[in-house]
Amino acid sequence: MEKFKWPNKYKSAVIFTFDVDGCAEQQLYEGNTLGHNSAGDYRPKIAVPRILNILDRHGLKATFIIPAWVAQRFPQRVKEIHNRGHEIGAHGYLHENFSTLSESEEREIHNKSGKIIADMIGTPPKAFRTPGGPLTTRTMKMLLENGYDCDSSSVKNYFPSRVKLEGKEVDMAEIPFSWLTDDFPYFWGGYEDKPGPPSFMPISAPKDVLEYWMAEFDGIHEIGGLFVYLNHPRAIGRISRLRVLDKLIHHIKATPSVWITNLREVVNWVLRE
Ligand SMILES: [Zn+2]
Repeated sequence: MEKFKWPNKYKSAVIFTFDVDGCAEQQLYEGNTLGHNSAGDYRPKIAVPRILNILDRHGLKATFIIPAWVAQRFPQRVKEIHNRGHEIGAHGYLHENFSTLSESEEREIHNKSGKIIADMIGTPPKAFRTPGGPLTTRTMKMLLENGYDCDSSSVKNYFPSRVKLEGKEVDMAEIPFSWLTDDFPYFWGGYEDKPGPPSFMPISAPKDVLEYWMAEFDGIHEIGGLFVYLNHPRAIGRISRLRVLDKLIHHIKATPSVWITNLREVVNWVLRE
């Protein structure tokens, strides 16, 4: 079995990431509506501060991945996340699917969204997660041109790795995530996209989700992998679910020999030599 060597004889590692999508996608595909804005704005306005308090209480630093349009709507919140010691990552301007855009359209979005975040927090984003659609070699090349050193869009492994592009290793780390440790499949509960009258997708019981996440963490710890927690304030950010996050962190902290760290530290470790 593949082995990954962690620093200081840690057996496994854990990082926390939050995609603050706001209502960028609804804005992009459906135009602005009051209903969408109230649901979308709940996330950065109400949910993010609650998440920040949980992270503070546990002494954790996380990465918040934010479409630049959402950052423009909530600049004070973005600055607060940064000032409380967390990383801000890029996620397009309006949560675009880059594979549907021309090369120049995509380049313009990377340039614009990187600059908006840099102007806001004084440093350009270095971490990226593709907002929608498949990740392409073209996107990876543009990320490298723009100074990014981390992509977290793939679901291919339990271990981080250095990215290979056209057969050559490049100065970028791949931090793989999993739908299993994403809150969306359990908690989104939005409309199902199918013909006929709208129906809600099922919503999971918090205790069941905690069980899935703890079991996945235990398994990843056993094989010495990287547990990447990827959640969305719009889904995890309700009170009953934030308790799941809190209990999960307690469970992880009670496990010996886990490097409870953040994306930046793992990227530096992968790219260290
Ligand atoms: Zn997203």
